[in-house]
Amino acid sequence: MPLTDEQLAEIAAQRGAAQATRRATVPALEEMLFTAVPLLDHGFVRVIDYMGDDGAIVQAARVSYGRGTRRVSEDAGLIRYLMRHRHSTPFEMCEIKYHVKLPIFVARQWIRHRMANVNEYSARYSVLDREFYIPAPAQLAAQSAVNRQGRGDVLQGEEAEHVLALLRDDAARNYDHYAEMLNESADGAVLDEGRQGLARELARMNLTLNTYTQWYWKTDLHNLLHFCSLRADAHAQYEIRVYAEVILDTIRAWVPLAYQAFMDYRLGAVTFSAQMLAVLRRMLAGEAVEQATSGLSKREWAEMMETLAH
Ligand SMILES: Cc1cc2nc3c(=O)[nH]c(=O)nc-3n(C[C@H](O)[C@H](O)[C@H](O)COP(=O)(O)OP(=O)(O)OC[C@H]3O[C@@H](n4cnc5c(N)ncnc54)[C@H](O)[C@@H]3O)c2cc1C
Repeated sequence: MPLTDEQLAEIAAQRGAAQATRRATVPALEEMLFTAVPLLDHGFVRVIDYMGDDGAIVQAARVSYGRGTRRVSEDAGLIRYLMRHRHSTPFEMCEIKYHVKLPIFVARQWIRHRMANVNEYSARYSVLDREFYIPAPAQLAAQSAVNRQGRGDVLQGEEAEHVLALLRDDAARNYDHYAEMLNESADGAVLDEGRQGLARELARMNLTLNTYTQWYWKTDLHNLLHFCSLRADAHAQYEIRVYAEVILDTIRAWVPLAYQAFMDYRLGAVTFSAQMLAVLRRMLAGEAVEQATSGLSKREWAEMMETLAH
């Protein structure tokens, strides 16, 4: 379900209000503020508030009295140095708050990132919307044969249709039973005046994991980049990766210098073990190294060769 007219009006009102401030603001992020970026079939991410900018990182690193900024090239150099050498505390000076709507099974992965502040929509207090994540056909993949945490080929034809039908039917049936137990429809109307209805905190246990939930999620830039390094990575599940990718777009608008340093020294970088580095040195010296003579396990060797091939 897209945002309701009422919700869109609330967002427009928030975007329409402006306040003068002496604090640093970032025009590109101000432009995005409060707007919901749609994701999956019913999800979204929107920036609610933020503190700091690239200048705040520089300011903290220099412990300066003023803005701390010198020339853009000097600031970029300092931020890149900090990122390269994992001097992380200046990045913690920037904070951001998001409003996220996401399926419960994605929320379970996301909540593992402990260095953040969260407040989730209360299904003890309110009735959850009748909204379920149903993957697009291109995402309906078989279990990977080589990676126990991954996907293989996309399901086709009748099998794909059957799986989609099961997902839709099970979610809808469980939601119907949820509403029946509550004795309440999604819009709050009582279904049967003769029944009390089960408490919301109990009835919710019947819902499927693809039901959408929502939360406000606030963290600092250091931990946000850590989140993105794990969840925008190709090994992360598609359904959380799409959220991390939208968050990366907001980071690019907010702190472009830190974003570029992160892309260069974290997301686009690789780590080699001491043994892998020794293998690389032998290869550069012209030796035809093979797994058997490399000192690496088969898995490490495969990972290293895959990295070098890309
Ligand atoms: C591809 C992938 C697969 C995964 N598979 C599984 C799985 O099969 N099972 C599973 O349970 N989890 C799994 N996880 C979750 C993973 O193990 C982490 O829990 C999750 O990524 C959060 O990472 P984090 O602890 O570094 O982040 P945060 O909780 O945000 O913490 C950030 C950093 O703060 C520090 N920190 C936070 N809390 C503590 C603490 N209590 N003590 C010491 N240091 C702390 C650490 O340095 C940590 O790296 C998976 C994650 C990914 C990305």
